[in-house]
Amino acid sequence: MDLFEKCWNFTRADEVKAQGCYPYFHAIEESEGPVVQIEGRKVIMAGSNNYLGLTAHPKVKEAAIAAIKKYGTGCSGSRYLTGTLDLHVELEQRLAKFMGKESCLLFSTGYQTGQGIIPTLVGRGDYVVSDKDNHASIVAGTLIAAGMASYDSKEGNSIVRYKHNDMAHLEHVLSQLPEESAKLIVSDGVFSTSGEIVNLPDMVKVAHKHNARVMIDDAHAVGVIGQGGRGTASHYGLVKETDLTMGTFSKTFASLGGFVVGEHKVIDYLKHSAPALIFSASPTPASVASAMAALEILESEPDRVNKLICNARTMRSGLKALGYRVSEHDSAVVSVIIGDTEKVLMMWKSLFEEGVFVNAFIRPGVPPGMEMLRTSYMATHEKKHLDKILEVFASVGKKFGVIN
Ligand code: PMP
Repeated sequence: MDLFEKCWNFTRADEVKAQGCYPYFHAIEESEGPVVQIEGRKVIMAGSNNYLGLTAHPKVKEAAIAAIKKYGTGCSGSRYLTGTLDLHVELEQRLAKFMGKESCLLFSTGYQTGQGIIPTLVGRGDYVVSDKDNHASIVAGTLIAAGMASYDSKEGNSIVRYKHNDMAHLEHVLSQLPEESAKLIVSDGVFSTSGEIVNLPDMVKVAHKHNARVMIDDAHAVGVIGQGGRGTASHYGLVKETDLTMGTFSKTFASLGGFVVGEHKVIDYLKHSAPALIFSASPTPASVASAMAALEILESEPDRVNKLICNARTMRSGLKALGYRVSEHDSAVVSVIIGDTEKVLMMWKSLFEEGVFVNAFIRPGVPPGMEMLRTSYMATHEKKHLDKILEVFASVGKKFGVIN
């Protein structure tokens, strides 16, 4: 059998395209943040993770341009060797301070951050204990950890998954593991599909009892929840108790890159040991400078976080009032659960035609029955944008018999 057989037999995307309701890879031709142009038409963007709307902020754009003028377009090397700029070091110091931790380390993407940290910390004989619904980068990190630990030895490390955000099950799982073994509990802070916030207070208690370390992926939490947008640990007042928090620059920070904050010795170990950092080029000058400018805006204008949460609350209650089944978590993600793949795709098409862009989440990305239109909001959405999104959801929902 030819290795490419599966590619030649892959027809699902073409079938959906033929029906005119293919929701992926649409090229954005212009973007002001809340409004973008796709296929020559202006549509309201209700599916971006540009939470504070900073990709269009003049200060963020100017910082990127100034960095290109000063340092050029790329670093052409890994942080380890020739790819460290004073900009990287400055951003690490400022982020560590912002997040209330000793040290910070930048990675080139958020995906690389999670995928890079876990196998570096969780070695042979150690355990990684992961929420069943964690992001793909965490899953990749756990699988790499397992592969690396067993690469030249039969005795690897172990991956254990616990039921989604179920701290009683986490406790049960931990109680089954050898007491003396080292353990890392990993969870998204705000889950990307539903916007649900992890039960960190109970997780920290359980971790303490079983001598496990806690790592939180705050990709959807920094700039969204916590004091001034400082993320999940801050949201619960548990900054000290949360060992590691990682984040991304691809959402609130209007750029590209990832970071992790924690105790100095741990960050220093990752810096000298994580293959995802050592063997990959460092984030570009423009990426770092724009993330730094976004951080400055987040620090000086914390009200943007309140505006974002207010917008998401307005939409959650508005969509609910229309009769939709929506996720009920106080973050920037408002998922509209439809429960049927074909209906999600057809509704996606109608919403787009009526001027609203959302994300269609279908299987295998979500479990059966949870097929959804995932909406997410920005601090820069204005009332007129939100009203229009609700108006379009009302007409499309009625057309497809999802609401009355
Ligand atoms: N973690 C989570 C929870 C995410 O949602 C994402 C992005 N979708 C990432 C990590 C990866 O971040 P990046 O886009 O910077 O690679």
